[in-house]
Amino acid sequence: MQQRKKTKQVMAGTLAIGGGAPVSIQSMTCLPIERTSETIAQINRLADQGAELVRVALRNVDSVEHFRKIRAAVTLPLCADVHFDYLIAVAAIKAGVNKVRINPGNIGDPKGVLEVVRAARDSGVPIRIGVNSGSVNRKKYPKVTPESLVASAMEHVKILEDNNFNDIVVSIKSSNIAQTIAANELLSSQRDYPIHVGLTEAGYGLTCAVQSSVAIGHLLMEGIGDTIRVSMTGDPVEEVVVARKILESVGERRAWVRIVSCPTCGRTDPSLDILSLAMEADAAVTGRFESYLKEKNRTLHVAVMGCEVNGPGEAKEADAGLAGIRDGRLLLFAKGEKVKVVESREAVAALVDEIQKMLDAE
Ligand code: SF4
Repeated sequence: MQQRKKTKQVMAGTLAIGGGAPVSIQSMTCLPIERTSETIAQINRLADQGAELVRVALRNVDSVEHFRKIRAAVTLPLCADVHFDYLIAVAAIKAGVNKVRINPGNIGDPKGVLEVVRAARDSGVPIRIGVNSGSVNRKKYPKVTPESLVASAMEHVKILEDNNFNDIVVSIKSSNIAQTIAANELLSSQRDYPIHVGLTEAGYGLTCAVQSSVAIGHLLMEGIGDTIRVSMTGDPVEEVVVARKILESVGERRAWVRIVSCPTCGRTDPSLDILSLAMEADAAVTGRFESYLKEKNRTLHVAVMGCEVNGPGEAKEADAGLAGIRDGRLLLFAKGEKVKVVESREAVAALVDEIQKMLDAE
């Protein structure tokens, strides 16, 4: 993994973006802002899963009153998503938003841009320029390419720079993985503003998770990206879970409990349900030890394996593990040593007890 590119740091409320701050996780609510209490509940669920900034769409000036109620009810930094009407952006800043996503080129009126800049500067609010493949001016740039995406973003950036405003975050997204990667590489070579990375219209479920992981993961491994959003159709809580996994996979976040489980095969004891055992072990070990591990700055590696051919090897490598043998029984390992044979119904409890003993002895 390449070293993270050093970018300028901006603050969205208490959240530092860029300048060496940890890569943050963003999400966006998917309800009309008028459904205030449901929006508040959704933001709290996103925060519980690890979102550090949540964007809310403000479609008109009336949205600002609803936003005020949301602002008063949640502590998480919030970003207002505003298009075209600078008055909404100014009002949102005055109502306590921590970041604004608006493209100044879409405001049209230079006086309006100046008003937004003035309000943002007075309140210490950064502005995110967000260009998507669908929002490129096709009269000016007939083809959507990495170059035209970056040129389009730079037009908006330039307007802010001409107004002496530099608390900028830039995002360039496409639904095409290669185009998203190339555009962000080009963007990163041109300016030092923090970059929000993501793949837009990435679909739903597994397709979205895989595509987003490839695009975002690739850029992060190149040291590009200061904040990420996975754009998934459906409940946004899912996108936060995927974003967390991406950051853990590229080493940007620590997974305190790492479960290794085998894919199972014809050698697996047919009376064992390895998937359920792995999920149960993950939930039990994470629930019981995660806060202790965080406090001790220690990770725990747990293996759940299907058979006695490859299972014991992997289980021995782990801090603790289970490897199926036969007739619904498993071998329990701790610190590379066989501890005992356990029945599958008691395997997870025995694993947790053994981990507890191991941690107590450290
Ligand atoms: Fe098959 Fe055993 Fe490997 Fe699991 S550990 S995939 S059961 S050989």
